[in-house]
Amino acid sequence: MYDHNNGQVVIVGGGIAGLATAKLLSENNFHFAIVERSYKLGGHTKDWACMATDNCNRCHSCAVFDYEEFVASSPHGEIFLRHELFSVTRSTSGISSVGIRCIDSGAERELPVTALVLAVGFEPFDPIEKGFWGYGTFEGVMTLSDLNRLMRLDDLNTIRPGNGDPLNLAFFQCVGSRDKTIGADYCSQYCCAAAIRAALRTIHQYPDSKVTIFYIDLQIAGKTAQALMDKAQEKGVRFLQGVPGEIQPIQDGGLQVISEKDGQNVVERFDRIVLSIGQRPSSSAIAISGITEAPLNEFGFFQTRSQFDPVRSPLNGVYIAGSCSGPANIPDVAMNAGKVVSAIIKDIEQTI
Ligand code: SF4
Ligand code: SF4
Repeated sequence: MYDHNNGQVVIVGGGIAGLATAKLLSENNFHFAIVERSYKLGGHTKDWACMATDNCNRCHSCAVFDYEEFVASSPHGEIFLRHELFSVTRSTSGISSVGIRCIDSGAERELPVTALVLAVGFEPFDPIEKGFWGYGTFEGVMTLSDLNRLMRLDDLNTIRPGNGDPLNLAFFQCVGSRDKTIGADYCSQYCCAAAIRAALRTIHQYPDSKVTIFYIDLQIAGKTAQALMDKAQEKGVRFLQGVPGEIQPIQDGGLQVISEKDGQNVVERFDRIVLSIGQRPSSSAIAISGITEAPLNEFGFFQTRSQFDPVRSPLNGVYIAGSCSGPANIPDVAMNAGKVVSAIIKDIEQTI
């Protein structure tokens, strides 16, 4: 077997895509260096709560802790937290080294590179950006990330009505996705399943809760999709097709939602509205594209060679991992890491 011990792969981004890629590289005898801007590894996945009810609901977010533990203890790698990429040096076949800089001290160093993996993830859509659904103005409107935070901190009780009535929760799907007017005419892939799991988790904790999911089109794929839908039906989650037209705060602290059914306006009261926000390109994508010359697509995600070659950048020696090439859920990110490492090995073997 070819010995990869001389190769070092630099991974820009220490979220779940970077960690999954680093783990596989380490298992294949590569050295890896992770360059991460923040103080911690794990990215957005660490913000998600466990969605287990009476059993595991396969949200996959705990995978990030396994990846992190493996990578942090691997003898094959180095991790540079609070560092950023600032230069690349090219060779005839790709990239021979990169310059990285400590964000706090400004200290610079050069890392030799066999392959460069861009794994800078995504940015959650910020509904304040467009004043969507009164987010930031109406107290009862929150995002799916906000709801996860409450669940993670075991604070779900804080959104229950104070008078002992059951919690009446609504999810609005496709917020910041499938919307040409904001340059996001794509599906964010993860949010239908994430909303259903959060609905089930809420009902599990407070069985008298009522949950309604307003959707345009449910996009749930994978082996567990049917089981998830069956469980949602069994637990009484109500699915209503169509996006409500308006939200109004009402005096009792709730929110009045106006939607349409059979040509008639329907007015309903909810305690809280959860916006299932989509994935936008990483805030660092433009800067990294400028440094590496790896091109971006029309939406601002990193471009790959084709849909049949979804991990290689058009730029030789540069690979794209995880959701920085487009929205993805956690299982897709893990699968994509395998493709990245296979492509790196294949390309190296072709050059020796
Ligand atoms: S996969 Fe999700 S639901 Fe299952 S144990 Fe892990 S975090 Fe909890
Ligand atoms: S996964 Fe569902 S909620 Fe998310 S953008 Fe796609 S259709 Fe909309």
